[in-house]
Amino acid sequence: MALRIVVGLALTVIAFAIAGHRLWWLYRLAMTGQPAPERIEALRKHPGRGAQTQVTEVFGQRKLLQWTVPGVAHFLTFWGFIILLLTIIEAYGALFSKTFAIPLIGHWAVIGFVEDLFAVAVLVGLATFAVIRLRSDPKREGRKSRFSGSHTGAAWLVLAMIFLVIATLLVYRGAQINTGDFPYPHGAFASQLVGHWLAPLGKSANMAIETAFILAQIAVILGFLIFVTYSKHLHIFIAPLNVLFSRRPDGLRDLQPMRSDGKVLDFEEADPDNDVFGVGKVEDLSWKGLLDLATCTECGRCQSQCPAWVTGKPLSPKMLILDLRDHAFAKAPYLLAGSDEAREELSDAVKLEAQRPLVGGADVNGVIDPDVLWSCTNCGACVNECPVDIEHIDHITSMRRHQVLIESEFPAEASGMLKNLENKGDPWGMGESKRSDWMTELDFEVPVVAGPIGEDVEYLFWVGCAGALEDRAKKTTKAVAQLLHTAGVSFAVLGPAEACTGDPARRMGNEFVFSMLAQQNIETLNEAGVRKIIASCPHCFNTIANEYPQLGGNYEVIHHTQLLARLVEEGKLTPVTPIEEKITYHDPCFLGRHNKVYTPPREIMAQVPGVQAQEMHRCKERGFCCGAGGARMWMEERIGKRINTERIDEALHTDPDTISTGCPFCLVMLGDAVSAKKSSGEAKESLEVVDVAQLLVRSVARTDTAAPGTSE
Ligand code: SF4
Ligand code: SF4
Repeated sequence: MALRIVVGLALTVIAFAIAGHRLWWLYRLAMTGQPAPERIEALRKHPGRGAQTQVTEVFGQRKLLQWTVPGVAHFLTFWGFIILLLTIIEAYGALFSKTFAIPLIGHWAVIGFVEDLFAVAVLVGLATFAVIRLRSDPKREGRKSRFSGSHTGAAWLVLAMIFLVIATLLVYRGAQINTGDFPYPHGAFASQLVGHWLAPLGKSANMAIETAFILAQIAVILGFLIFVTYSKHLHIFIAPLNVLFSRRPDGLRDLQPMRSDGKVLDFEEADPDNDVFGVGKVEDLSWKGLLDLATCTECGRCQSQCPAWVTGKPLSPKMLILDLRDHAFAKAPYLLAGSDEAREELSDAVKLEAQRPLVGGADVNGVIDPDVLWSCTNCGACVNECPVDIEHIDHITSMRRHQVLIESEFPAEASGMLKNLENKGDPWGMGESKRSDWMTELDFEVPVVAGPIGEDVEYLFWVGCAGALEDRAKKTTKAVAQLLHTAGVSFAVLGPAEACTGDPARRMGNEFVFSMLAQQNIETLNEAGVRKIIASCPHCFNTIANEYPQLGGNYEVIHHTQLLARLVEEGKLTPVTPIEEKITYHDPCFLGRHNKVYTPPREIMAQVPGVQAQEMHRCKERGFCCGAGGARMWMEERIGKRINTERIDEALHTDPDTISTGCPFCLVMLGDAVSAKKSSGEAKESLEVVDVAQLLVRSVARTDTAAPGTSE
């Protein structure tokens, strides 16, 4: 017994000292980041929500289970480790007493059974993980493997260590059965089987095996503990924390205001010499941002869904996080050094790491290549998939903000868009006078708000820049207006007083232009007394509904497909003319993933007689971007396959007559790709891309006379 006690406790003290030292180092590193009081405040205000996410995300493994096979394997392993905490108590108890049993429950056969059940479940989980890793070996699969770029050697080592945890457990329990030290009379079926195999060795051999494997079990667990704190498996400890402090919306939805030292930046007073403008150095991330980096499990789920990665661009959300993490860890001695003198003493490698620009090409030894940073469409797929709630879009936006506002380094072709927004209030620079042109093509008058909106006007129809100025999107605008008119919904528009919501500027990183436009619009809306808004553009919808409240603009915002679906359901719009077509619906990211509006557009299509709806392979929360979000609409797509072409290739697999959507930017991007496909003979000439509102207006029974320009 003395041997057990001395060796067991010595191993424990050493392992806890090493792991504790590492955890303290990680904590100090996280604290070098910017404060994030809003995360604490959110938790303080909504403790119930925090507790609920622990139940659903951590213990329920909700996001992991969205991928059934690896999800179930992870569920078994996770719960195996929770249940097997009992066996760790038993192993430590056995150091002190050969016949140790957990007080009260330690002789219950059901506990022995459950422990063995989960030990076997972990083995099943491990076997599944091994098969998944072999089938998606990045050496064979290349970029197609979600493990491409992950540390696969460490992952195999962890699988081996977990196997050893279970193997040593079952062996010492089997030996205990033969020595009479096992606390459970029956029920522990796997231990009994191992005991049956060991029985022929005799009692004294089993006694030696029992002691050796109890110590081996403790040694493996402690080795695993140390390894975890130095590897991606750190997520075992910190994922619950990251989930607890996460923002929660699955696709992130709104961007956060810029903060410096935890306070929202006021551009009137902000000083680039003293304030943090976005993220220009890794320590400009908040502690939550640094926690994100340390939490990544390298599972590659985000990478597998990223439209940039899938189409051959250098951006992988996983590798972006890993590159930032590796840089933060390598720069840590510099960040943790208490003085300039201490920094002088650091190795050349650390000093070199500290000098690396956060964003820059290989020529300047940058951490994140500009092509990586600017490839993101803000589609939200990565955030939606990430099982540990890492907020990739926030990090990308923060780096873009620094590049735009401090370095003035961004794709040159987007500068025209930013200038147009600043000077003319729309990305094309067409000016306010053109914003009302679409109304002249209707056969009824659309009221334009001048002064306070009338009590009799229920909705303000936010037309959006594309909806007012882009020829294809104007068809949607006219269809929506016609349908509202037909249904007897009272609405008005701002006409020339409407300016861009600022979404493209904000997604580019130009928070200054965003805040200028947003404040101008909020002033206009508030002066008019607007309460309810219909938006036909998901980007406008997202910005007004979720981001304008940050600046004092609080409105009830509805997307046109939501309102039209309701009007159809209430019988105020009746689709009667059959449209005998096979139609596939493309989910706009900012309507679907960011705001969870999946059903209304589909309900509208289901009500149109003759329509055969056909889902694409990637749809709803797994929908694939059109390539326009994140201000990518205004940048050239020079690397890899065009994202809109990839999406149309997928749509063509359903052999559609029509592709429908609910966003003017998707309409334009997919329309361009369809035109290219028609030119190359890969798509039929009759194939068209339309908004769901255009489909509905074609089918709906009119109560008035339609003008020729309204149905298209
Ligand atoms: S938001 Fe979309 S494009 Fe950007 S990194 Fe995530 S998955 Fe890729
Ligand atoms: S960021 Fe999230 S989804 Fe992506 S590899 Fe890391 S843990 Fe997995």
